[in-house]
Amino acid sequence: MKQTKYIFVVGGVMSSVGKGIAAASIGKILQSRGYKVANMKADMYVNIDAGTIRPAEHGEVFVGEDGVEADQDLGNYERFTNQTSKRENYITTGQIYAEVIRRERNLEYGGEDVEVYPDIPKEIIRRIKVCQEKNKSEITIIEYGGTVGEYQLLPFLEATRMMKAKNPNDVFVVLTSYLPTPSLLGEQKSKPTQHAVTDLYSVGLNPDFVLCRADKPATPDIKRTISNVCSLPIERIISAPDVYSIYDVPVNFEKENFGNILLETIGLPPRQKDLADWTALASKIKKIKKEVHIGIVGKYFNFKSCKDTYISVIESINHAAWNLNYKPNIVWLDAEKYENDKRKLKELDKLDGIIVPGGFGKRGTLGMMLAADYARRNKIPYLGLCLGMQIMTLSFARNVLGLKKADSTEFVFDTPDPVITTMQDQIEKIKNKNYGATMRLGAYPCVLKKGSLAQSAYGASKISERHRHRYEVNPKYVEQIEKAGLIFSGKSPDGILMEIAELPKNKHPFYLGTQFHPEFKSRPLMPHPLFSAFIKACIKK
Ligand code: GLN
Repeated sequence: MKQTKYIFVVGGVMSSVGKGIAAASIGKILQSRGYKVANMKADMYVNIDAGTIRPAEHGEVFVGEDGVEADQDLGNYERFTNQTSKRENYITTGQIYAEVIRRERNLEYGGEDVEVYPDIPKEIIRRIKVCQEKNKSEITIIEYGGTVGEYQLLPFLEATRMMKAKNPNDVFVVLTSYLPTPSLLGEQKSKPTQHAVTDLYSVGLNPDFVLCRADKPATPDIKRTISNVCSLPIERIISAPDVYSIYDVPVNFEKENFGNILLETIGLPPRQKDLADWTALASKIKKIKKEVHIGIVGKYFNFKSCKDTYISVIESINHAAWNLNYKPNIVWLDAEKYENDKRKLKELDKLDGIIVPGGFGKRGTLGMMLAADYARRNKIPYLGLCLGMQIMTLSFARNVLGLKKADSTEFVFDTPDPVITTMQDQIEKIKNKNYGATMRLGAYPCVLKKGSLAQSAYGASKISERHRHRYEVNPKYVEQIEKAGLIFSGKSPDGILMEIAELPKNKHPFYLGTQFHPEFKSRPLMPHPLFSAFIKACIKK
């Protein structure tokens, strides 16, 4: 079999400098040169997947077609390369250990003792190869979570070292570093990067490239210093300054000639080159002047990180708005404040539309219902995503049907009116505290009602979208709700599960919620039809 290439993207100096975007951009530029790429993420957590991790701290849980609950970076990969990530594209320390221990219990090590070294790195290597095979990729880009020097990264770096020792011409390391500019000095410093490089040396790895993240482009002096320390030609020190939008990153990489140098380094000839659409989008974004004001009513806000917590929602808004030549101005509205003071709902008047995104647990849900009711009465465009659809249904049941205590069994277990109820197959799982990867996950088909807002937005009668939930609209209330005017315009093909709720066009300009998560399927050059329809309604307002 032809040898395939592996590029490891490793962080140095500090985290949260855009390693995921860098890995996605490498995928993008190699793909634009005609190569079949796969992007993979390896997380250091002992968690088996991201499904049990708090999004406010660790970012959104991204859901794949096959139902994998993964790190948000898989979303970046999908948005950049427009390829669907598979379960195999995501590994964690937990998965690696679980498999090694499973094998040990089955006597598959034939009586040998099983050790962290080499059995853990060997399993990591096996999983990287499984990902390559599943994706049939010519180049596999593996992003490691965390930064060099971290204890938990060692088995992964060792896996890379073992692979490189065996196939030095097929395995490469890109160090994503950071150049700080201390305000007192006003100049970039390379010393932390030098330390990161030394850390890599100490585990037997040399970087093949250094990506210099910084607020400004790396100066020639700094590039020269780093090139000397790493014994690398200067053109392999790549400048990666802050950019207007993340979609500029591949374009900037190409300005540094990164694509050509990368292919030359890994020993592959360039094929076609086609980044034109992407480059056009990245430059168009900067010229957009008109703004559309969108409020996100939620609760996972701890200011510094709501960008990560709702990244796919934000990007979906961006894609749809840009496509319509508008620049979104997103404001974060903490639902709980409406519970204490309903007058604060008036702030919604200043917005062109609101979104209630996904979420779990009771906190904030009353405030979200109040916002949903306010948007319904005042004809403010409303888009509900998963929890947001449940919220608008509950708010409708309370305020239009008069079921004042309508609730979800998730929030009030013994509510007299469980308009949102626990899905049948979830009851046992919740009772047994069997929470990991047990929600209704991944892609399911949905049939759209003729003449509905949803159907006209999609321009199709059957669609498929990704899910992540345990609760659903209670079938017992469907007739009552529809009679009162809220229509279920999307249902599972057997008609049992309510997937989309909406008010008819003559009642409200845009009032729609989905039990699924459309935000996972929006792409920069292919905005999601529901987000496009929502933003159009917002612009009209
Ligand atoms: N908590 C709700 C449920 O489990 C909604 C989930 C979500 O928004 N992803 O059904």
